[in-house]
Amino acid sequence: MKMSQLLSFRKENDVVVEIAALSEQNFYACYQCGKCSAACPTAFAMDIAPHQVIRLLQLGDGEKAMKSNAPWTCVGCLTCTTYCPKGVDPARIMETLRTIHLRKLDAPFHYTQQDGERLSALPQSALVAAMRKVTW
Ligand code: SF4
Ligand code: SF4
Repeated sequence: MKMSQLLSFRKENDVVVEIAALSEQNFYACYQCGKCSAACPTAFAMDIAPHQVIRLLQLGDGEKAMKSNAPWTCVGCLTCTTYCPKGVDPARIMETLRTIHLRKLDAPFHYTQQDGERLSALPQSALVAAMRKVTW
């Protein structure tokens, strides 16, 4: 599916369109072979494996993909991207899901203002992504 087609159902699928636009990935190219998930070193800890996250996006269920712990369990190793025979970049999609979450924060992270208990409760990937994108 081309981006123009994707944008045509923007109203019903705002999150999906946002994910497609930010990641610049055509997740409709994915044919669900599952290689990304089979190769992913952290898929065992995900509630939804990488290829299933992509399937949700194909089906227009961006909200469910956003609620998954998969983006926060992903360590950004790019193994999935290397293995994909269709040129899809699941790692970038995971990064996009994290970015959309972080952009919804009311205020930038200030690490010095966070108490230790709160920091320890956050996924490591949230801290790394926030440090790169939404800190001052
Ligand atoms: S980048 Fe993330 S989703 Fe892809 S293989 Fe690595 S941990 Fe898994
Ligand atoms: S490896 Fe590529 S084509 Fe196969 S399921 Fe993962 S994203 Fe889809």
